[in-house]
Amino acid sequence: LTEKLQNVFKNLRSKGRLTEDDVKTALKEVKMALLEADVNFKVVKGFIKSVQERAVGQDVMNGLNPGQMVIKIVNEELVNLMGSETTEIQLQPGSAVTVIMMAGLQGAGKTTTTAKLAGKFKLKGKKPLLVACDVYRPAAIKQLQINGEKQGVEVFSMGDKNKPADIAKAALEHARKNNNNIVILDTAGRLHIDEDMMGELQEIKEAVTVHQTILVVDAMTGQDAVNVAGSFNEKIGIDGVIVTKLDGDTRGGAALSIKAVTGRPILYVGMGEKLSDLEQFYPDRMASRILGMGDVLTLIEKAGAEIDEEKARQMTQKMKKAQFDFDDYLESMNQMKKMGGLSSIMGMMPGLGGMGGKMPDLDNEENEKRMARMEAMIYSMTLEERRNPDLLNPSRKHRIAKGAGVDIAEVNRMVKQFNEAKKMMKKLPGMMGGRGGKKGKF
Ligand code: GDP
Ligand code: MG
Repeated sequence: LTEKLQNVFKNLRSKGRLTEDDVKTALKEVKMALLEADVNFKVVKGFIKSVQERAVGQDVMNGLNPGQMVIKIVNEELVNLMGSETTEIQLQPGSAVTVIMMAGLQGAGKTTTTAKLAGKFKLKGKKPLLVACDVYRPAAIKQLQINGEKQGVEVFSMGDKNKPADIAKAALEHARKNNNNIVILDTAGRLHIDEDMMGELQEIKEAVTVHQTILVVDAMTGQDAVNVAGSFNEKIGIDGVIVTKLDGDTRGGAALSIKAVTGRPILYVGMGEKLSDLEQFYPDRMASRILGMGDVLTLIEKAGAEIDEEKARQMTQKMKKAQFDFDDYLESMNQMKKMGGLSSIMGMMPGLGGMGGKMPDLDNEENEKRMARMEAMIYSMTLEERRNPDLLNPSRKHRIAKGAGVDIAEVNRMVKQFNEAKKMMKKLPGMMGGRGGKKGKF
C-alpha cells in the first residue's frame, strides 16, 4: 500500500494543477491500493466517495498545490474513519470495581494484552486482578500467571475444573475482599468464530456485570480481523478493540475498517511481544502509517498553512543553484519559526527523523534569542552584502557587529552557520516545500 500510494502522490505532485478528472483518476488508484491492503470493500467505497465529495468543488489551491490538497483530504478522511481522537478504557467512578472482559480468537493476543493492560493500570495507581478464565489449556493459565508475576499483579485462577462464568464470579468476590479495583477476565478463544465460544462469553456476562468488553484482534489477519470484529460485536457486544501485532509489516488496513464496521473505537495497539509493547491508538498516526508517508502529513498541514508555495519553490531553485543568500536565510528562518523550528521539521521527515537529535534545537528560548540576534545582524548588512555574502571582509563584519550590538565572534559564527546551512539545504531539495528533488520522499 505504502509504495502504491507514494506512487499515486508522486504522479499528482509531478503535475502542475489538477483538473477534476485528475482527482478522479488519482482516487481510482487510491481505491485500488486500499483494497489491496485488505481494507473492507464497503469502507473503501464510502471512503472514496467522501473524499471525492470533499475534493470536488473545494478551493484546491488553498496555499497548497493540488496534490498536497488531495493528500490532506485523503488523510483527514482516513482519520475520520478511525475516529478522530484517542479513546480511553472507561472505568467505574470512585472505588467501584471495573470488570473488563477480554475476547477474541485463539492466538490473537488476549493473554499477553491482559498482562500489558495490567501494567498500564498499575502505573495509574490501580490495583488490577487478572483472572484465568481460559480453562481449556493448562498452559494458558500458566502463561497468565507468569505474565502477571512479571507485571507484579495478582492472578486469580481455579484450575481447569470450573466453568469460566463461575470463575469470574469467584474472582469478583476475591477482588472485593482484596481491594482490587480492576478485574480483567482473560477468556478462551477458538480458532474460528463458533457458538461455543460466544455462549461462554455470554454466560460470563450473565454471571457478573462486565463493564467493558474488549475485543483483541490480530492485525496480521487483515480482512479476517474485521469480520471477526463484526461478529463479536453482533453476538456479545464490544466496547472497544485492541489491535495486536502491528509491529509486523502488516499494512494496518484492518484498523481502518474496524471502527467503520463496528462503530467501536480502537483503544490500544500491540507493538511487540514484550509486556511494555502496548501503545495508545492515535488515529492520525495510523492514517499516516497507512498512507506510508510518516509524519510528512503533519508537515504538509503546517507548511500548507504557513508557507507561500511560490516563495518556497523559488528558494528551492536558488538553493539548488547555490544562489542562496542572506535574504533567503532570513526568509527561511521566518518560515521555520512559523513551522515550529528546524529540529521539529527534521523529526517529521521520513528517514531523517534520527537526525533530529543532531540538529540545533531552535525551539527553546535561548535559541530564539540567538535567532533574534541573527536577524539583527542580517538587518545590519547592506543589501549588497546580503545578496553577496562573499563581500563580508573583516571590516564589514566589524561594522555589522556594531550595528547589531553583538561582538565580532558572533558575526563570524553566523556566517559560518550560514555556509553550513547552505550546504545542508543543497542536500535536502525537498525540505522547504519544494518538490523538485527526485530522490526526496515527498
Ligand atoms: P491468546 O490466545 O489470544 O491469549 O494470545 P496470546 O496472548 O497467547 O498471544 C499469542 C502470541 O502472539 C504470543 O506468542 C504472543 O507473544 C504474541 N503476541 C501478542 N501480542 C503481540 C504483539 O503486539 N506483537 C507481536 N509481535 N506478538 C504478539
Ligand atoms: Mg490466552
